[in-house]
Amino acid sequence: MNLELNDKVAVITGGSVGIGLAIAQALAAEGVHLALCARNGERLEREAEQIRAAYQVAVLAHPCDVSSASEIEGFLKATEDRFGGADILINNAGTGSNEKIISAKDEEWQYYWDLHVMAAVRMSRGLMPVMAKRGGGVILNNSSICAKQPLGYEPIYNTTKAALSMFSKCLANEAIPMNIRVNTVNPGLIITPDWRNTAEKLTRDQDITADQYLDGIAKENTPIGRFGTPEELAAFFVFLCSPKASYCVGSTYYVDGGWLKVV
Ligand code: NDP
Repeated sequence: MNLELNDKVAVITGGSVGIGLAIAQALAAEGVHLALCARNGERLEREAEQIRAAYQVAVLAHPCDVSSASEIEGFLKATEDRFGGADILINNAGTGSNEKIISAKDEEWQYYWDLHVMAAVRMSRGLMPVMAKRGGGVILNNSSICAKQPLGYEPIYNTTKAALSMFSKCLANEAIPMNIRVNTVNPGLIITPDWRNTAEKLTRDQDITADQYLDGIAKENTPIGRFGTPEELAAFFVFLCSPKASYCVGSTYYVDGGWLKVV
């Protein structure tokens, strides 16, 4: 299938590892030029260089903390200077939390609100006018199954991801007259280096291996009985970016091996 993405420009937050990196690679394989950001500039530049070499696309690697309004402004400016705008925005940067509501401080709530919600608001607001000028675009918000089916240890994550999903729905209604298609993707268990590090830490003094620990989590939670790979998820993102997904608007798509327990 020709996905008709060649020479488009995609902006991806958190594009240096895990899901964001897999989406960057999968879009680059379709001939898409990239503007990537993450806080750790060294890792970001290393991955950007690999993508340039492997796929011969232009890649801007811009260090940026998307929980900061001023750093987002800098990233948007750098993207405008390098590419004159963008056709695709993937709001991906995010991370889990671990707290009890009774003791979590306002600052923790504020950080995750800025990271998961305001970053998507600011990035979308910044790019929509230029997308409209280019004839339209695509915005995909990487939320989580936890936006619908909460995990007990991370109420702040669950709450802010649910807010991101609602923001995405509202934005979809506002943006479609500009031919900008907005959708949400809710991944389930996706195996990233971060999951592996956590498993290694948790099993260091135990008589199971990190792989056995991860296998247990997958079997306990998902009907499919395994983690998904970032590449499996990225393929779905790429499809949604393509004009082949032209009637996909304002929806939330689960990519979760059957983990969601409701219809
Ligand atoms: P990783 O931790 O593997 O990667 C996160 C990426 O985001 C990195 O590039 C990281 O780079 C960047 N990042 C994190 N915080 C910031 C910040 N404040 N500003 C800019 N960049 C930032 O995460 P995953 O790939 O696992 O997750 C990606 C998204 O998918 C997240 O939103 C997560 O909630 C969601 N998700 C993941 C699931 C999973 O099982 N893996 C399941 C459901 C949803 P750096 O640290 O250098 O900033």
